[in-house]
Amino acid sequence: MITINEHYLKLNSSYLFSDIAKRVEAFRKAHPEREIIRLGIGDVTRALPAACIEAFHSATDEMASDATFHGYGDEQGYGFLKEKVAEHDFRARGADISPNEIFISDGAKCDTGNFQELFSTDARIAIPDPVYPVYVDSNVMAGRTGRFENGRYTGIYYLESTAANAFVPEPPSEHVDLVYLCFPNNPTGATITHARLAAWVDWARANRAVILYDAAYVAFIRDDSLPQSIFEIPGARDVAVEFRSYSKTAGFTGTRCAYTVVPASCVAYDSSGRPQSLHALWNRRHTTKFNGVCYMVQRAAEAVYTPEGARQVREINDFYLANARLIVNAFSDLGYSCYGGKDSPYVWVDVRTNSWEFFDLLLDKAGVVCTPGAGFGRCGEGFVRISAFNSREGVEKALDRVRAALKRA
Ligand code: PLP
Repeated sequence: MITINEHYLKLNSSYLFSDIAKRVEAFRKAHPEREIIRLGIGDVTRALPAACIEAFHSATDEMASDATFHGYGDEQGYGFLKEKVAEHDFRARGADISPNEIFISDGAKCDTGNFQELFSTDARIAIPDPVYPVYVDSNVMAGRTGRFENGRYTGIYYLESTAANAFVPEPPSEHVDLVYLCFPNNPTGATITHARLAAWVDWARANRAVILYDAAYVAFIRDDSLPQSIFEIPGARDVAVEFRSYSKTAGFTGTRCAYTVVPASCVAYDSSGRPQSLHALWNRRHTTKFNGVCYMVQRAAEAVYTPEGARQVREINDFYLANARLIVNAFSDLGYSCYGGKDSPYVWVDVRTNSWEFFDLLLDKAGVVCTPGAGFGRCGEGFVRISAFNSREGVEKALDRVRAALKRA
């Protein structure tokens, strides 16, 4: 008799975005005449930058001739892209990362979900609350947690992110082996300073722990005093892995390209306490289970680093950030405390009430979809996430309706 991995049965059955979809569908059926504006799911809405499209086309043309056709590439990605990444995303900011420490992939979701495979099942993990759900669920599937009870899995150390700590948790007070951090944060929009990130790196070094640092939203940082990479922090190379993605950076949510940086000096330990290279392990995993990102997609990602591509990327992300400012202003004017939305496309609004009730209120009265904070963890209760990924017209119309609805409510 074939049996299943029973850890899957522990997964909290309610999935945030399908619950939202069900409520929106019910509303649509009940009010077919009303237009719905979605400021919920974090998908981008603007087209790929023109420089990426141009690179895509010319790479596609190469595939049309035997002489320039590309079959399998290196699983880790093409050198032309890894060199640009190392130069522009890291060395230009004083972070010592070389091209062979970069693994190109088809998404930060897969990478953040898969990386935990390298660690023992009894590794003790710390995960922020609220959080991007992939970090939690992938560890549940791997058997690193107990059951889901009272909104949390036993066995996880939750790093509470609240207004009191500006949504940047301190290192844990008890022993933990593996920590997930995400800045700029999804869902809170919080950013981390050099000093706070350095405290995490020092903690990891002192505890022989590893930090998995998700920087999927780095392209929205405008405050130049903030670190863009954990590798800007001295000593981070030995204790951190970083995830990046072109999804939010350059509108690649449907195109799929991302990368993971695993420094050659980053280690975890075997059962006899000997250090083992995470780079070697990830390389083994990546080459065994992954066969590389499409050549045209990697050429399109490379175009992000041309002067023209960089300018276009910045213009698109500035556009979303201007939407975020409108959202912050509107909710602040209505008397709500807002966080994020400055170096992040997400605004985290303290709605001072049950987040699903507020979701229903906004949908019912304004026809606007937001994301209830409770779906991101217990500490998300009382907040909603509003996404700036929309057209200007969509955001303005949604905010007009929100103003009218909440003034009335
Ligand atoms: N990390 C965070 C924090 C995200 O919010 C997302 C997507 O929403 C991802 C990773 C996934 O990115 P990708 O599209 O590269 O899989």
